[in-house]
Amino acid sequence: MEIDHRFNFDDVKIESGRKLFTQNCDFLLSVASLSQLPDENLPEVAFAGRSNVGKSSLVNALTGRKTLAKTSNTPGRTRQLNFFNLGRRLMLVDMPGHGFARASKSDILGWTGLVKDYLRGRVNLRRLILLVYSRQGLKRSDVELMDLLDEAGVTYQLVLTKEDKLKHGMVNTVHAKVIKSIAKRPAANPNVIITSAVKGDGIAELRALLTEIAELTAID
Ligand code: GDP
Repeated sequence: MEIDHRFNFDDVKIESGRKLFTQNCDFLLSVASLSQLPDENLPEVAFAGRSNVGKSSLVNALTGRKTLAKTSNTPGRTRQLNFFNLGRRLMLVDMPGHGFARASKSDILGWTGLVKDYLRGRVNLRRLILLVYSRQGLKRSDVELMDLLDEAGVTYQLVLTKEDKLKHGMVNTVHAKVIKSIAKRPAANPNVIITSAVKGDGIAELRALLTEIAELTAID
């Protein structure tokens, strides 16, 4: 069965998504080097985005918990990969925020080599969810990350955040523009999800999508 890229999920899929995200979402560990990575025995989905994009808020809205914000904003963990086990069915990975204004040239994404090695080598990484602030659209650091993902062959899903901060017409304009700018990218899912952690828009769809990934790519 194909993963549904159109996001017109039926009630059954929305309900499976709701159910999975009522499961416990337990913090597993923070990783600072490749040797510490957990076993690759669950399908994995990583969340990335520039700092302040609304990543903690979105993941908390998905899981209905505040665990992520607390754990990932703990000093020392903001530059690490933080792993969360969702119902023993899916591993959620919180990645460090990229695109700091003062990133050096040699470390232009403001990231460690760890992140790049992780993205290039993680066998069970099924998708990267790239969050983009709907008011700003794609920034250079997002484009650099997409280049890396295209090269590494990691499928990624763009998600616009804080949709409630835009007037209705503007959301459609930004949405169309982002879709156009990823049209020729090989590893990008052509569809872009619009979300608001505050209003709850897009949360049920994103849950359904992640649940579909967990179900269709489960590891025996
Ligand atoms: P992170 O740094 O990417 O984890 O971002 P946070 O989740 O901490 O959010 C950054 C700021 O954006 C905070 O002030 C949030 O309250 C705000 N924020 C996050 N999501 C939304 C949203 O959907 N709508 C609005 N209006 N504000 C949001």
